[in-house]
Amino acid sequence: MLDFPTTLSAVVKPAPALSREEREREIERAGYNPFKIDARTVSVDFLSDSGTGALSTAQRAAAEQADESYACSSSWYRFEESVRDLVPYRHVFPVHQGRAAERVLFSSLLSPGQISISNTHFDTTRANVEIAGGRALDLPCPASSDLDSEFPFKGDIDLGALERTLSGPEGSKVGIVLMTITNNGLGGQPVSLANMTSAAEIARRHGVPFWLDAARFAENAWLITRREPGYSHWDPRDVARREFALADGCMISLKKDGLGHAGGLLAMRDDALAERCKALVIAGEGFVTYGGISGRDLEVVAQGLREVTDPQHLAGRESAAALLAELSHQAGVSTVRPSGMHAIYLNAGRLLTHLTPAEFPGHALACELYRRGGIRAAELGSLYLGELDDDLRLREPAPFELIRLAIPRRSYDETHLRFVGSVLDDIAKEPEQVPGYRLTEAPPLLRHFDCRLTPLPN
Ligand SMILES: *Cc1c(COP(=O)(O)O)cnc(C)c1O
Repeated sequence: MLDFPTTLSAVVKPAPALSREEREREIERAGYNPFKIDARTVSVDFLSDSGTGALSTAQRAAAEQADESYACSSSWYRFEESVRDLVPYRHVFPVHQGRAAERVLFSSLLSPGQISISNTHFDTTRANVEIAGGRALDLPCPASSDLDSEFPFKGDIDLGALERTLSGPEGSKVGIVLMTITNNGLGGQPVSLANMTSAAEIARRHGVPFWLDAARFAENAWLITRREPGYSHWDPRDVARREFALADGCMISLKKDGLGHAGGLLAMRDDALAERCKALVIAGEGFVTYGGISGRDLEVVAQGLREVTDPQHLAGRESAAALLAELSHQAGVSTVRPSGMHAIYLNAGRLLTHLTPAEFPGHALACELYRRGGIRAAELGSLYLGELDDDLRLREPAPFELIRLAIPRRSYDETHLRFVGSVLDDIAKEPEQVPGYRLTEAPPLLRHFDCRLTPLPN
């Protein structure tokens, strides 16, 4: 007998279902860029799991009791209490989203020329290290570069490389060791508690603060209970507390495991650092008890942080990702292994072998998913990460041609996932029908958000 799923839909919205001709017109208008496609034409939106989930009835009820007082509102106290149930740090600052926490932290902690070491910096995290004058150094574990390896903790940091860097000639320049859980830049792979414990110990021995970028702390905790020896009987909430207890502080985008539509937080043990952060929060975000978000949003994420460690919620996330991966394999499309929780990553390079990296196979597959099924997803390949020459031709390809199908929380059910599987099946029957693309316009910075492309004749 199956477990009963334990949630029922309380509010529903219609999903657009356009004709293929209507979508062809829309994607052409959008310059073949998923970020410019009108969401009213998207049937299944897998562009991001950030701020895109459905609220629970308890979150909507909490929002009704919001207190919009400027300072020390009752919503702030409820937010603080909910955060403190997870993190053991003295200082807690709400901010408007995760990247605001990054800006405040790195401006307060790093001096120009200092190095931030991570298992992998998320893209905004890297940008904020660099804006603060620092250098971002990624030390992912070796297993992470093999997309097919079933190693259970491919999000781990390379402990040997961490020790060597900290003991080496540049060791004195390292200002922070930052562990991203789960490792979003590397396929959403989890980090083991054993790896976090050792990394924290190495950092501490060298006198360097150890922090967490914990946007998906609950999904990471769940995968620890599923994959790490010794934790299978643990409550994921206790694993999450253990994660935070290892660190000197954390940044959390509350648009992921906060189950919110806005918000982030910054929390830490160090009093002097907190004083410096406080000034930047007030100057850039808002007074320290609201940090740029409304009382309503404080209530929503306070309740979200209570709900997110529910084993039923986390088990449902894991099985949704596993089902989507299984459906992809059945269609003949390989995915980055093992599948994580927030997204699956399709290996477009392996499917569209008739396209060279310069024809952007990941992007080609993303466009095809929209044309055939109204499914929106983002490329993670040479369009996003490759190097271009002045004529917008690819000079240096990315190591892999992937696309990410990010699964919004509590929004799609098995029927939607099976529909996506059937569209993939349709594409994979005749992959050579999928055209490549050429860039026609690209801004110098963050080009994937604003570029335009055109399909190549097949
Ligand atoms: C989303 C994310 C961020 C940035 O958070 P925003 O709320 O989008 O600003 C930082 N780090 C990681 C790992 C993330 O996934």
